[in-house]
Amino acid sequence: MTKPLAELLKDYRAQGRCLSGFNVNDIYDIHAVVEAANRLDLPAMLMTYGPVVELNSSYLCRKMADGFEKLANNKLYLHLDHCSDVDLCKQAIDDGYDSVMFDGSQMPLADNIRGTKEVVNYAASAGVQVEAEIGKIMGRDVVAKTEDDYLAAVADVVALAEEAGPDSIAVGIGTAHGFTPTTPKIHFDRLQEIADAVVAPLVLHGGTGIPDEDIQRSITMGIAKINIGTIVHTTYMRETYDVMSKDVAGAYPPFLMKEVIPKVADVVYDRLCAVNSIKNG
Ligand SMILES: [Zn+2]
Repeated sequence: MTKPLAELLKDYRAQGRCLSGFNVNDIYDIHAVVEAANRLDLPAMLMTYGPVVELNSSYLCRKMADGFEKLANNKLYLHLDHCSDVDLCKQAIDDGYDSVMFDGSQMPLADNIRGTKEVVNYAASAGVQVEAEIGKIMGRDVVAKTEDDYLAAVADVVALAEEAGPDSIAVGIGTAHGFTPTTPKIHFDRLQEIADAVVAPLVLHGGTGIPDEDIQRSITMGIAKINIGTIVHTTYMRETYDVMSKDVAGAYPPFLMKEVIPKVADVVYDRLCAVNSIKNG
């Protein structure tokens, strides 16, 4: 079966373009992503992280995304983000996700390859795009002591690409999840070596803290998808808190969200501009 999203990412890598993926948690931040993507007439990816899927099920997440298709001017792709559970990847595939990420980056290479391959094989008949990860993206529970510890080794990327055959590969090249005290240093030399060694579209995680010029440079070097999460949920939480604080007793969700959604849409719009080299404002 054809894999529409895998084909799109291949084209994007060839053309020096990049799909933006945003971590979403409910209909309100999805609303914000759709609004921002519509303003720029771009497709976007809605990414659900483990806790969202555990709370709501991949079935409900699929239905939630389905509901927005009529509101979106372009394609919305639904993706399972950072999943190290093969069965959960299979469940998301069964429930109609466009894309899943098997994240075996914390496992020994052989286990990462084995898990990725199992998900790739399962996804093939469903036409679902599979993202793998190699190297480490710092933040959350991931701690790297030395650069060698988190940078993806070129030989490991090649082994994963050849033996498991994922459609796209997230590579550890120095970026981190979440806000970091200092600007993450992207190892462009390593990115170049990896891009020279594999044809698969590459994925950059930790999109919140990366300077615009580094995002744009990495896209010219083979990054065809970027993940943006922290800036979305921290804006959502802070704005909700600020608006609600004005009148907690009188707070009513639809009125509250009417104020929060445009604020979240603005940060999504800003990141879409950065990824697509569009001047914001
Ligand atoms: Zn990530």
